[in-house]
Amino acid sequence: MGQALNVGELKVLVVEDHGFQRRMALRMLAELGVEQVWEAADGAAALGVLHGMPALPDLVLVDLDMPGMDGVEFIGHIAERHLAKGVALVSAMDQGLLNAVQSMARAHGLRVLGSIEKPLSLAKLRNLFDALGERHPGSEDEVPVDVSREEMREALLHDQLVAWFQPQAECTNGKVVAVEALVRWRRPDGHVVRPGNFIHLLERDGHGQRLTDTMLAQACRWKRRWEDDHGLRLQVSVNVSAAALAEPGAADHYHALVRDLGVEPADLVLEITEGSLVSDAARGLGVLARLRLKGFGLAIDDFGTGYSSLAQLSQIPFTELKIDQDFVSGAGNDPRKRAVIEASLDLARKLQLEVVAEGVESPEDWQLLAELGCGFAQGYLIGAAVPGEDLPGAISRWRRPAA
Ligand code: C2E
Ligand code: CA
Ligand code: CA
Repeated sequence: MGQALNVGELKVLVVEDHGFQRRMALRMLAELGVEQVWEAADGAAALGVLHGMPALPDLVLVDLDMPGMDGVEFIGHIAERHLAKGVALVSAMDQGLLNAVQSMARAHGLRVLGSIEKPLSLAKLRNLFDALGERHPGSEDEVPVDVSREEMREALLHDQLVAWFQPQAECTNGKVVAVEALVRWRRPDGHVVRPGNFIHLLERDGHGQRLTDTMLAQACRWKRRWEDDHGLRLQVSVNVSAAALAEPGAADHYHALVRDLGVEPADLVLEITEGSLVSDAARGLGVLARLRLKGFGLAIDDFGTGYSSLAQLSQIPFTELKIDQDFVSGAGNDPRKRAVIEASLDLARKLQLEVVAEGVESPEDWQLLAELGCGFAQGYLIGAAVPGEDLPGAISRWRRPAA
């Protein structure tokens, strides 16, 4: 599904050390109608250019192999500091390395439009622009929006951060048994904004705990309504900010919060990303152990994209492992992805964890997971995230693919 992409309004930065190749790239971009182009010859210079730009660039074309600060380090900076809306890698390197860099960038919430093998050509650039204007059927609008800290503060104060819910289905029979709560910002003008545009601002300004509180409370209220009004019993997963685990009293706090709303901790799963564990392992561990003691389920989110060691994994009382979507969508015809899924399932079996595969987009993905013995699937095939009132309808419309 294409959506009108106004190439003339795009801001593009080209980072390439090779002078001739850089000039070629600029010429091709001009030929395609891109009018606002910046350039830099290495990573350090590119960071300088980024800071001087009037707005975030829509696209940064990065050569991976550069002297000085290479493309991998540069993308790390962009991803961590949210300096661009999207990146594309240009390289003569092998696909394994390109995959690694893409996963790293995605783990930071940076949109990766793909990788281009050198030499660059007009056709390859055109494909990239197509990807920039494309959205997945059933998915929401992913057009990046500029968000200010002030707007986010207002959003928190005025209850504009709302929980939407995405179904999870059992792979053996297709039954929807759980949902994940995903935050959306409902702007006063009615526009709905996805978390990739604002989570980092909330967390940077120390609102991680408030976000977790409001999401958990909304999850509990909706869970009761689906049960009372529709007879739907669903387990609900909530994403937890690292900051929300830093307080020593966090376990008691969350226990009291959900109990007051009439929900048992055992009907909830708290999702924690690998990244947030690494940052504060020791303190987080105690809080996690206590949450588990109180009966909360604990999921390790985005498994496969972070840097946690197996030793660390086995120390934390997780109950569930969520295989990152990078490894799931399209796994049917990618032996690398399939290998990661198989290894994750094996590990989960040994540690006695439930497994949820994220990013299940096609009947082929579904079939593969069922064959490999994965427990649960989540993704656009089953349904995208929807407001709480729309969930029962979305669940009843879903049919699992015929075997
Ligand atoms: P996540 O926890 O990995 O959530 C899954 C993301 O993948 C969601 O994006 C979901 O809409 C999207 N998705 C679902 N199915 C598919 C699919 O089949 N294909 C693809 N390509 N994507 C799919 P969303 O809602 O934009 O959330 C992005 C991230 O923001 C989440 O990733 C999570 O890390 C973070 N986030 C969302 N809600 C919260 C929250 O309440 N608190 C915190 N701390 N983080 C949140
Ligand atoms: Ca999650
Ligand atoms: Ca995830």
